[in-house]
Amino acid sequence: MTESSPTRYVIAGGGTAGWMSAAALARFAPPGTSITLVESDAIGTVGVGEATIPQIHLFNRALGLDEGDFLRATKGSFKLGIEFDGWLREGEAYMHAFGSVGRGHGLMPFHQYWLRAQALGIAKPTAAYALNEQAARAIRMHRGPTQNGPPMPYAFHFDAGLYADFLRAFAEGRGVRRVEGKIANVAQHGESGDIAALELDGGERIEGDFFIDCTGFRGLLIEGALAAGFDDWSEYLPCDRAVAVPCENGGEFTPYTRATARAAGWQWRIPLQHRIGNGLVYCSRFMEDDAASEMLLANLDGKPLGDPRPIRFTTGTRRAHWKGNCLAVGLSAGFMEPMESTSIHLIQSAISRFLSVLPNGRGGAATRDWFNAQSRFEWERIRDFLVLHYTANAREGQPFWDHMRAIELPDTLQAKIEAWRANGHIHREHEELFTEVAWFQVFAGQGVEAQGRNPIADALPEPQLRQLLEQTETAIAAEVRPMAHHIDVIKSTIGTRTPQ
Ligand code: FAD
Repeated sequence: MTESSPTRYVIAGGGTAGWMSAAALARFAPPGTSITLVESDAIGTVGVGEATIPQIHLFNRALGLDEGDFLRATKGSFKLGIEFDGWLREGEAYMHAFGSVGRGHGLMPFHQYWLRAQALGIAKPTAAYALNEQAARAIRMHRGPTQNGPPMPYAFHFDAGLYADFLRAFAEGRGVRRVEGKIANVAQHGESGDIAALELDGGERIEGDFFIDCTGFRGLLIEGALAAGFDDWSEYLPCDRAVAVPCENGGEFTPYTRATARAAGWQWRIPLQHRIGNGLVYCSRFMEDDAASEMLLANLDGKPLGDPRPIRFTTGTRRAHWKGNCLAVGLSAGFMEPMESTSIHLIQSAISRFLSVLPNGRGGAATRDWFNAQSRFEWERIRDFLVLHYTANAREGQPFWDHMRAIELPDTLQAKIEAWRANGHIHREHEELFTEVAWFQVFAGQGVEAQGRNPIADALPEPQLRQLLEQTETAIAAEVRPMAHHIDVIKSTIGTRTPQ
């Protein structure tokens, strides 16, 4: 292949990662590019993955997907945040709500004033000052601009299998060739070790210039053939199993994900149009499989639709996500538990980073190194955020939670906690996924107390501080009151087409 000849992309695997990659390449790769996707119906997909974060809009919009079509096809619902129930202690809940909490005053972020108000004993929980949380708890929401501010940020819950089907139709409609079959062997070029072709059961050989490994936990190309190596993060996030079961709709049709702490892990609840997705993530060192299934089944809001399905995983990441002429996307690149709904985001982020440096051929070493360093940074900072939810707990006397309080933290997280404790500063660096507001809500929700704060916050006279808090709360309540019920917003969205 010469540098100017079109690239032949071969995508191994047709789960969410495979079809998101195929759809994005079909939409953006230059004309003449050939894209082939190989998947095996017999092997199937991981079959979970239903909650997202607001960045999903960027991906859907980039493809030009209509929100109504998308929600209809994926049986999706809206998501304004994640409720963490019992993570600090049993019976207490807080939310990581998308969007802002409070309104800043001058240069200062709101949380500094909140810390001062807390010291004065006049602060309410962060919920009182968060539009998304107030709306979520009222089961209401609004698409488009709010009365007095920017639109409410929202994400979606959806059936990831249906999303993959939806994207498959999109990709095949734009020339992606799908091959059904089981990859039996990955053929490599002798000298470089680059991948030359996928050899299928039955003898078909699919040659390519660049390969995208979307084979799930197996990592058939990135690990099986290229031995990229894996960094195991179980010391920080020791949960290694999940059991999942959908159930009939029941309880409230919440526009938020619920994550409820359990004895040795946590349970998710994700309402879709046609069912509720449920699962229990747990640590096998502290909980037996049977006990996990029983606990899950005992805590459903409706009749289970099938038997609980076990899933095993190891938390961590490939040492290189891009090696030679192969990029790992999705579970083949690594896995972190779905507490903050980051996996589908990491798929989309890998794809957009790759497209931003789309190579002609295999890509140069400098580009690969840059890509891998960026991915590493992104993954590590997400890992830190997840660990914070576990380690700052007050569930004393429960062996798993006692263990999580005592673990040695990554230096990067330790530094963040120290900065917060000292003066309420939240140090973020370029490209970190989670915002200052996200960290604030989790620090506050998990009871991590800041001993100091920025002295500029103290300069605001107390009557003005009270006024700031009261006005914020009143304004939010006024915004929420006329909002429509979650179900009605879904109905109006799937019944109408949004303008392109
Ligand atoms: P898979 O779905 O496993 O797909 C692998 C593909 O490779 C399949 O098509 C398979 O047929 C193919 N394949 C494998 N081997 C071969 C072979 N030899 N020959 C041919 N084809 C082959 N993410 C979120 O964003 N939000 C969530 O709420 C969420 N919850 C999750 C809960 C759990 C318990 C788990 C484990 C994951 C969760 N995820 C979540 C992650 C999400 O499910 C995945 O990131 C996403 O589904 C992508 O999976 P994948 O496409 O990489 O792999």
